[in-house]
Amino acid sequence: KQKQFSAELSLPSVTTDGQRIQLYLNAGLLSGIASEIAEGADGIGLYRTEIPFMLHQRFPSESEQIDVYKRVLSAAGERPVVMRTLDVGGDKPLPYFPIKEDNPFLGWRGIRLSLDHPELFLVQLRAMLQAGGRGNQLQILLPMVSNLDEIDQTLAYLEQAFTELNQELNTILVRPKVGVMLEVPALLYQLQDVAKRVDFVSVGSNDLTQYLLAVDRNNPSVSSLFDSYHPGILRALQLAVDECHQYDLDVSVCGELAGEPYGALLLVAMGYRKLSMNQASLARINYIVRRVSQQDLSELLKIVLRQSNGQQVRTLLGQFMQTHD
Ligand code: PEP
Ligand code: MG
Repeated sequence: KQKQFSAELSLPSVTTDGQRIQLYLNAGLLSGIASEIAEGADGIGLYRTEIPFMLHQRFPSESEQIDVYKRVLSAAGERPVVMRTLDVGGDKPLPYFPIKEDNPFLGWRGIRLSLDHPELFLVQLRAMLQAGGRGNQLQILLPMVSNLDEIDQTLAYLEQAFTELNQELNTILVRPKVGVMLEVPALLYQLQDVAKRVDFVSVGSNDLTQYLLAVDRNNPSVSSLFDSYHPGILRALQLAVDECHQYDLDVSVCGELAGEPYGALLLVAMGYRKLSMNQASLARINYIVRRVSQQDLSELLKIVLRQSNGQQVRTLLGQFMQTHD
């Protein structure tokens, strides 16, 4: 079957009734980027910068970071690259920056850590700006944002980096688009204010599920409760896309759900037009999108949203897939 999926990867992801869905790649390493882009990914929807940081023995210097980011941008050709600022803490420790906490997922991670260490954060922002890419290829994404102040503070650091670099380099750099991860539930209710500050939102369904359900995403004892098809999660995802459309915020999904066949179908049904996923999922999701209609999906979604648990949702999706394959 994988062969059948791959054979169509270079064909556009369009539903049978003509709705184009953009499929992006989640990446953290260089390998694979160039070939997937060449074969049809619309760009990199999530580049996790913590991965190269985890491969180092110490914080990479500004020039080391510039080098890595440049290579990622160039591997993506001219396609957009959404580069996320450091998202360590939680389940992603840096060996040279140990953090001891009772509740790491509720603790010092993502943007919180960056804002508490402006000397590190500024180096990363400067490196991203200098790596640049072509035109407005580069977009910057902020992880674990839980309030508007974090956005404002980050924008101030970005402005500082931008002004300093323009002076130092005696040029005018391109101002990248900036976006936030929607993965802390409270931000879901502030999207109107988010829209006044940034250009786009990327829904992190992994953390959003974890925080909405109060289930550790990595704890095997509660793994059966970690369910992105829980009707409560689905309603949150529906609310997110509706609010983003209402406030003119570009929106995509970069959590694992976007790379799962059932998840991708539901997201398209809800109105999402940009999905970002691991390399292994791209061909399959493209294949599926090309076999369904937006209209059938809308009908399906109505029934899905009336179910009382995730298992029922999956059963319905299974039946739908059987008739569309
Ligand atoms: C997410 O939380 O859904 C996400 C994409 O980010 P990460 O998995 O890196 O936390
Ligand atoms: Mg996350």
